[in-house]
Amino acid sequence: MAQGAVEYAKELGCKHPEIVLHLDHGDSFETCKSCIDYGFSSVMIDASSLPFEENIALTKKVVDYAHQFDVTVEAELGVLAGVEDDVVAEESHYTKPEEVIDFATRTGCDSLAISIGTSHGAYKFKPEQCTRDPKTGKLVPPPLAFDVLEEVEKKLPGFPIVLHGSSSVPQEYVDIINANGGNLPDAVGIPEDQLRKAAKSAVCKINIDSDSRLAFTAAVRKVLAEKPGEFDPRKYCGPARDEMVKLYKHKIIEVLGSDGKAE
Ligand SMILES: [Zn+2]
Repeated sequence: MAQGAVEYAKELGCKHPEIVLHLDHGDSFETCKSCIDYGFSSVMIDASSLPFEENIALTKKVVDYAHQFDVTVEAELGVLAGVEDDVVAEESHYTKPEEVIDFATRTGCDSLAISIGTSHGAYKFKPEQCTRDPKTGKLVPPPLAFDVLEEVEKKLPGFPIVLHGSSSVPQEYVDIINANGGNLPDAVGIPEDQLRKAAKSAVCKINIDSDSRLAFTAAVRKVLAEKPGEFDPRKYCGPARDEMVKLYKHKIIEVLGSDGKAE
């Protein structure tokens, strides 16, 4: 599958395409195995909701299979709050730094997603966890647990760390959505300066999804509100796609600092 994408990119004129096909939040050995068998270049096994020893056992089983095919494995230790796909967690439990060496050594995983206060979705914090900006009335979220990240880095020097649930929930998109018939009160995310700081550490992958959904929805709502007679999907999906491209360019270049690294 990844191979097919590489061929296609070459057809389009990309000389040295490096394309990754990654399974996010695989929840069983069977799901990970079928993706590996279909040619994925990396998989995530998210057994973070299981007890520590069961997380290790399942992760190791996936690693042992994946490494036979040069497929890399991302694991997760610690629990993120929020909902993504079928992985549901009521509350967040920071990763315990004292567990990471044992976990990484015994599972053989290639990268590790940790919990330091990020979470999935556009409502990352309850209002009572935040303060409020007196001028704008907007919620100001609590900072990420950089002390936990630093401890993890000390325990596993140079080991690739991953952050999930790292949308910033840009308030300009929330405002456009709310001004054009939407209803996202108190949607709040991780400030970009905190992601910038994390990107300079051992964190090598930061997952951002909700922000692109917000960008897309804001553009669609704006077009439909301004032109209520519009019914051609090309007229609102086009601008929505352009807004997503703008957003991801900004994230890659200005927030994550990862442009040009694939050369
Ligand atoms: Zn995730």
